[in-house]
Amino acid sequence: QPTFEHDYLASLNAEQRAAVEHGGGKVAGPLLVIAGAGSGKTNTLAHRVAHLIVNGADPRRILLMTFSRRAASEMTKRVERIAARVMGDKAATLTKGLTWAGTFHAIGARLLRDYALKIGLDPAFTIHDREDSADLMNLVRHELGLSKTESRFPAKGTCLAIYSRVVNAQSDLKTVLAKSFPWCIGWTAELKELFAAYVDAKQAQNVLDYDDLLLWWAQMCAEPAIAEHLSGRFDHILVDEYQDTNRLQESILLALKPDGTGLTVVGDDAQSIYSFRAAEVRNILDFPIRFPEPARVVTLERNYRSTDAILNAANAVIAEAAERFTKNLWTERRSAEKPLLVTVRDEAEQASYVAEHVLEAREEGFALKQQAVLFRASHHSGPLEVELTRRNIPFVKFGGLKFLDSAHVKDVLAVLRFAENPKDRVAGFRVMQLLPGIGPSAAASAMEAMERALDPVLGLQFFRAPARAEADWPGFVELFSSLRSRSGWPSDLEHVRLWYEPHLERIHEDATTRRADLLQLEQIAAGYPSRERFLTDLTLDPPEATSDKAGPPHRDEDYLILSTIHSAKGQEWTKVFVLNAVDGCIPSDLAVGEREEIEEERRLLYVAMTRAKDSLHLITPQRFFVHGQAARGDQHVYASRTRFITDAMLELFSQIFWPPPMADHGGQPPHPTVRVDLKARMRSMWR
Ligand code: ATP
Ligand code: MG
Repeated sequence: QPTFEHDYLASLNAEQRAAVEHGGGKVAGPLLVIAGAGSGKTNTLAHRVAHLIVNGADPRRILLMTFSRRAASEMTKRVERIAARVMGDKAATLTKGLTWAGTFHAIGARLLRDYALKIGLDPAFTIHDREDSADLMNLVRHELGLSKTESRFPAKGTCLAIYSRVVNAQSDLKTVLAKSFPWCIGWTAELKELFAAYVDAKQAQNVLDYDDLLLWWAQMCAEPAIAEHLSGRFDHILVDEYQDTNRLQESILLALKPDGTGLTVVGDDAQSIYSFRAAEVRNILDFPIRFPEPARVVTLERNYRSTDAILNAANAVIAEAAERFTKNLWTERRSAEKPLLVTVRDEAEQASYVAEHVLEAREEGFALKQQAVLFRASHHSGPLEVELTRRNIPFVKFGGLKFLDSAHVKDVLAVLRFAENPKDRVAGFRVMQLLPGIGPSAAASAMEAMERALDPVLGLQFFRAPARAEADWPGFVELFSSLRSRSGWPSDLEHVRLWYEPHLERIHEDATTRRADLLQLEQIAAGYPSRERFLTDLTLDPPEATSDKAGPPHRDEDYLILSTIHSAKGQEWTKVFVLNAVDGCIPSDLAVGEREEIEEERRLLYVAMTRAKDSLHLITPQRFFVHGQAARGDQHVYASRTRFITDAMLELFSQIFWPPPMADHGGQPPHPTVRVDLKARMRSMWR
């Protein structure tokens, strides 16, 4: 039934379809889909994968790279639904084979584990998140005596940022310092020494940081024998959000597929918002000419997401960009409802504006999940979180403080990591110092004892703990030993919790809520096949922090989404509220100055606006709170509308003031403007 067979692509427009069918379901030359927001790039990618599978591609030989783990799992689900239209139940079995779907970092971690022994890496390596990396950088800094110099050597976070920039931009230290950290140029020699020692420390401890996952992968690909083997594993490599990849990621793709065969990338240069992490918009712009044969380029211009009123406003904002390659979008979705530009007095009013409108919309039948609140920086949602909690509106926050950032969760994970890799000093220090009586120096000697011993467990067993820790030490050794012998997964985590609980109660006042988090962690763990996969996934892309204040919403429960604009990439909601659409927030204070940085802030606003399907509220508080930059401290500042919405654009918005005048008088309407003289009337009644 050929018509039925092709039905599953019927919903696509001609350009989308051309992209899906490029190569006719077989391995073909490189393909780029470059197009604006909401034009169906991700949708097209999902159809392309389904199309490949329907045409006999082996799903296990498809590599799919997305911006987050969530995006990857949504993509595989979508692929399954699409393929099912042709293949029925068979689709589910096949898409189960689509296991190579994830972020660059997660895929890198898996491949490195796989090839570890071939490249001189111990496959038991553990992964450091940014905080662990900064801690290790700090440790190394101390060892080199660099922090003791009275002069102001850059802080650990800055050191890590510089190191990371050099690695990801495939640049050299001098260039990076001159361009992005000019105030550190005087420390070039010391930084070089520090980074060399940092690399040594990571190797000695068998840990990789985030950047290593890409760097080792790229280095591995530079070995022709391994590159060839790797490249032969995947017939198709597809990448979403390509505008936010960096040089290192590009070099990996080019090494895997030097002539671009089987390579598909999609993205939008107008949405490039990660240059602060060394993302390189030239990657997508130059993609067509990177290969011996030029890539096929497909552009999409029809937007399916937003109403014309919203799209016109978004188009106007991005039209002012200094540099821009994708064209304006059009849509068939007509609406008279212009996006709102809402002026409120301060952030408290901003919060009640959002809360009231969210509830109102829910009354009208829009679930909380269809609505989202977006903001420039994670801490901007503080007052709103308080308001939502007060009104019992459940919410989940993306891109802010991660579940994993909380101390108790980190403690428990560090125990597992330490058992996985006893050389991991950051984990070891963290864990041992949970015991009263163990400080940095005792922890350091215990680590040394472990290294000297034949077996790390024996090393700990025979270590003479300081007197104050003597009582707790055997329990700790017992736990460590049982975790080392791989007693079982996921019950390991419960063991750790039972051991940890007394410490939890000693360290934290709110032990009960924290204990609930740990139970939640055990539930998450139950979904993982092994301790190693669990640790890797959680370190790379931790689950979103749920709000414990309003009660952690369960998966199927309705809740409002709070998200940084950066984390909202690729997503869409019926109603979108953007907080603090004021100068100083968007563009951020920190960006003001460099033209390139301002341009990135404009794209950020564009990303925020284009998340909305039906209704968009940009809120501008007249006063907002600025968190302390060293010089000025915390303070309220008077703000004005973001410069990216010029006076000429105002006709594209409805401007309103909120609250309407009534509420200014304690819920009463303001006094009438007429004046009458009642005294005179009283007197006249008797005359
Ligand atoms: P972004 O740039 O924000 O990542 P995108 O280009 O990836 O956006 P999608 O998320 O794939 O766009 O699609 C946007 C919306 O348009 C989705 O709701 C999708 O289902 C819908 N859509 C895409 N293509 C079509 C089509 N041919 N017919 C109907 N709806 C479509
Ligand atoms: Mg997308």
